[in-house]
This record gives sequence, C-alpha cells and structure tokens, in this order.
Amino acid sequence: MTVQTVAVLGAGLMGRGIAYVSALGGFRTILQDTSEPALEKAGAEITALLEKGVATGKVPGEAAVSARQRLSTARTLEDAAHEADLVIEAVPERMDLKLEIFAQLDRAARPAAILASNTSSLSITEMAAATRRPGQVIGMHFFNPVHRMQLLEVVRALETREETVVAALSVGAKMGKECVTVRESPGFVTSRINAMIGNEAFYMLEEGVASARDIDKALKLGLNHPMGPFELVDLVGLDTRLSILRHLHRTLGEKFRPCPLIEQYVAAGRLGRKSGRGVYEYPSS
Ligand code: NAD
Repeated sequence: MTVQTVAVLGAGLMGRGIAYVSALGGFRTILQDTSEPALEKAGAEITALLEKGVATGKVPGEAAVSARQRLSTARTLEDAAHEADLVIEAVPERMDLKLEIFAQLDRAARPAAILASNTSSLSITEMAAATRRPGQVIGMHFFNPVHRMQLLEVVRALETREETVVAALSVGAKMGKECVTVRESPGFVTSRINAMIGNEAFYMLEEGVASARDIDKALKLGLNHPMGPFELVDLVGLDTRLSILRHLHRTLGEKFRPCPLIEQYVAAGRLGRKSGRGVYEYPSS
C-alpha cells in the first residue's frame, strides 16, 4: 500500500507535530480535533514552525509553502478519515477513548487504510481488537518535540501484518525519522528503559548516594546523556512518570516498583516544571 494521504486525530502537542512532519514529508495531511481552539492553535504553531525552519535554513522556502498547502483541518473523525490511506491517532492517553475512536475509524476509513496509534504505553492489540482489520493496526510512537526528535518506534501488535509494518516504516522514513521496530510490550523500548533509569536515580537520591545535581552531572558527562534523569523527569512531569512506573510494575513486575521518594514528591504536589517545583525549583514558572 502506498500512503499518500494521512489523517492525524488530535491536534495537541503530539498531533500538531506529527501533522508538521507529515505535510513536510510530502503527504496530503488532514489534522482533526473536536476542539476548534485546539485546531486554530495547531495551525498557527505549524505555520510558525515552518517560518522558523525557513529562517534558520533548515526548511527550503518552497518546501514550506507546499507543506502548508498540503495541510488541511477537519472537525469530525469521518471528514478526516474517509480519504486517508493512514490515520494516526494522537488523542489523550485513555483506553476507553482510543477504543471508541478505533471502532469509529473502522467504519469511516477505507477498507485498505492503515490505522495507527501514537500511544506511549497502551496496548495496540487491544485497540486493534476494536476493529475488523487488526492486521492493519499498528503503533507509531513519535517523540516530543516531533519536529526535532529523530526516532519513531514502530510497534507491531499481535495481529499486525508484515505489509503494515513495511508501510509504516516507509512513511516514517519520508517524515525524516529513523525507525526501530518493536514487538508490543509494556513501555516499548524507550519508555521502559527511561523509567528504569529514572526510578534508579530516585533510589540513589533517597539513599544519599549523591546529590540530584551530581547524579544528573554524572549521567550527562560520564554517560553522554543529553539530559540528567532529574532534569528529564521534571520536564516530563513526576505524575506522568509515576503512572508509567505503576503500569510497568503491574505488567513487568518488581523491578519497576516506584521508588517511595517519587511517590512522596507527587503526593506533595512536586510535579516538575509545570508546578514550579519537582526535583528542582522553577521559581519563574
Ligand atoms: P494533548 O492533550 O496535548 O492533545 C490531545 C488532543 O486531542 C487535544 O487537542 C484534544 O482536544 C484532542 N481530543 C480529545 N478528544 C478527542 C477526540 N475524541 N477526537 C479528536 N481529538 C480529540 O496530548 P498529547 O501530549 O499530544 O498526547 C497525545 C497522545 O500522544 C497520547 O496517547 C500520548 O500518550 C501520546 N504521546 C505523548 C507524548 C508527549 O510527550 N506528550 C510523547 C509520545 C506519545
């Protein structure tokens, strides 16, 4: 299957980034959201990002103009999906919502269309079971910010067919991404490793092995991590990280038991940058 038209459902943080790389990658792109303000904000941000790309020489002027022309918006799932060869769902991380959307998509999208989810943790197999085309359902896990992060994790669910994987890899390459293929498993590769490192860092802080700043410094300068684990968790949100850890603990066992210190920080409202205080303090936010 050759993908020409991509529909992106959900115009939030991730959806708008996916729409940006899709339009720039040469696909006719339809960005859908049930919220008009979200669509307007996404349109403005994509335009600003294209302008910035041109100004910094990263995006040729003509490519930016064509990308803008290839991009349109829709308010309903049906309008977005009916002509799409590939639909990428990026609505909030709730299984009930995703199941409803996949059942609706199965009715609205062409029989040959591929249905993908950008979920960072939920089961693609379960979403696929809400459709009559489980072989054409796949995970396409992008990273934030989508226009800057190189990786796309392509997640093969229990019933995903090989040609669906091949099509997703080809789309990812055209969107400028480096791809890895992962068999569905909690946390895939990235979230699982990241949660493990972040949790261990909290245990070390709790045990007094080193200060937060020195643990971050050690990983950055000694192991070449671009950010320290505490800088990263403050950015991601301690509550988000804790919910991922709880999911991994439930599904993969003891080694992912959340460190009591992160539980305590979340209980105290120390959620990271967004709340002004996490492991570090952000007085101005
Ligand atoms: P977000 O809250 O920024 O955006 C979600 C958007 O979906 C909102 O604009 C909302 O109006 C819209 N929406 C809600 N219900 C809808 C519906 N029924 N139909 C269409 N649109 C609807 O969320 P996000 O951070 O972009 O996350 C989206 C998905 O991407 C989640 O599954 C998340 O786990 C995954 N993800 C997030 C990140 C990240 O760093 N934020 C990274 C990788 C993957």
